[in-house]
Amino acid sequence: MNAQSERPTAMGQAEAKSRDAGATLTHKRFPGGHITLVGANSPTNLAMRPIRLLVCDEIDKYPLSAGGEGSPIDLAEERQAEFKANSLTVLACSPTVAGRSAIAASYEESDQRKAFVCCPHCSTWQLMEWEQVRFDKDDDGKIIASTARYECVSCERPWSEAQRLAALRRIE
Ligand SMILES: [Zn+2]
Repeated sequence: MNAQSERPTAMGQAEAKSRDAGATLTHKRFPGGHITLVGANSPTNLAMRPIRLLVCDEIDKYPLSAGGEGSPIDLAEERQAEFKANSLTVLACSPTVAGRSAIAASYEESDQRKAFVCCPHCSTWQLMEWEQVRFDKDDDGKIIASTARYECVSCERPWSEAQRLAALRRIE
């Protein structure tokens, strides 16, 4: 079975809607595991499902309380109890409003490690910063998106896409 056959089809989504207009749950099994996708507004759909790896994306957009039952992240993390030390939670988001950003608060509570990558040209370890992404512009001054590239903070040489991906694979 290939990956494409695992994807929900348009027909499958339509069928889910006709069964339950409020359905936000998608569950897929695959060799060696399963994945459950749930909207942050209905984390109770995770009830009875033990979770080892929890990935919460765009958390600054989550409701403070889901259906009056509390933080959707807290509710999801309760499902990890079975795995204890073997569980992992990934919270992801671009920070939004200072002082009200859930991801900023989570980062403040963390050990604040950062991911360093090594330049393939000069071996300088660095944080990948948006300011180092460069574009060419056309005659009208508009950015040509296809020319986007990362340039080393030290030697300023551009990284190819293969070099960028290789650097990300050996992140420290
Ligand atoms: Zn460099």
